[in-house]
Amino acid sequence: MKITRAESFILHVPITPPITDAINAASHWGLAGVRIFTDEGIVGCGYTGTCAEGDDLITRTIDRYYAPLLIGKDPFLVKELWDEMRYGKMHWIGRAGVTHMALAAVDIALWDIMAKAAGKPLWQYLGGHKSKRIKAYNTNGGWLNWSKDRLLKDVADIVEQGFTGVKMKVGKPDSREDYERVKAVRQTIGDEIILMIDVNQQWNINTAMTWAKKMEEFDLYWLEEPLNPDDILGHKKLAEELNIPIALGEHVYTKYAFRDYIHQGAVEYVQADVTRVGGITEWLQVAGLAAAYDLPICPHVGDMGQIHQHLVASTPGALMLEYIPWIRHIFAEPATVKDGYYILPQRPGASTDILPEYFEAYRVKS
Ligand SMILES: [Mg+2]
Repeated sequence: MKITRAESFILHVPITPPITDAINAASHWGLAGVRIFTDEGIVGCGYTGTCAEGDDLITRTIDRYYAPLLIGKDPFLVKELWDEMRYGKMHWIGRAGVTHMALAAVDIALWDIMAKAAGKPLWQYLGGHKSKRIKAYNTNGGWLNWSKDRLLKDVADIVEQGFTGVKMKVGKPDSREDYERVKAVRQTIGDEIILMIDVNQQWNINTAMTWAKKMEEFDLYWLEEPLNPDDILGHKKLAEELNIPIALGEHVYTKYAFRDYIHQGAVEYVQADVTRVGGITEWLQVAGLAAAYDLPICPHVGDMGQIHQHLVASTPGALMLEYIPWIRHIFAEPATVKDGYYILPQRPGASTDILPEYFEAYRVKS
């Protein structure tokens, strides 16, 4: 099989109503991606996710630097192609961020092609581990811009729908407000539901130590991204001092950075995001690393679940997957959650094929 062409795309899918966490505000979810065409008629689709800013830098990297390397090559040589892209012309100016997100989009499209050629959903092509369903936890009721009333109504609805895990955002200017919101959510959902809080990097070490310590009484399942994602030492200190496990990984871009976090005991739930860490090729290596330390993996759902459901279903140490249903309607086989569990996809590929009508409706010129 040979690659004949690669075409980048940007889609902006509306988020209604717009949401915020401690550092991001989003009215649209951006997909910066690529479709890779082959001489056997199989087309692979891969993408990364953004808050609808900077997408053009990602697709420019794909068009100018990665796509030309692919033409005429066999997609089954995905690891060789990954090395050529990663250590090619862009290595000088980027080993994370834009370049790794572009690399992720291309890598995912290549794995999509391979799984389609094999006639298997990606989770089976990778070697299945969970054959029926995977546990979901819901983040979509816990946004920071939600009023307390709306927050409590939404988390109650989520539990009513059958979810057994809920995540909420914290990081308000006054941490006492965070404390009161977490307390109210715990009272609303009861003791049986697991509850995670996500700081989105907003705290410093002192705020984290003081307020996470106070919140231990709410039996939190994890504390997510309390500090700047480059601060391994700070997270290590929190992991040692707090009785809430530390979760992070959505802003960690390489297996080397994960190695340092993991080896130093600074992360306790590994949230590697396939759309940030350079694609499936690198994600699998991070998963192997976590497995050697017996650490659970719960991916950040930057792709809104389409690709990560395959990775969780094929990875022994992967416990559950976040659920945020903003963009699922645009896909030919949407990620589907029923009674709090993802139902595993059955079509060949990575579940990344986008319906033509939405591809046109949400397309943005780069
Ligand atoms: Mg997060």
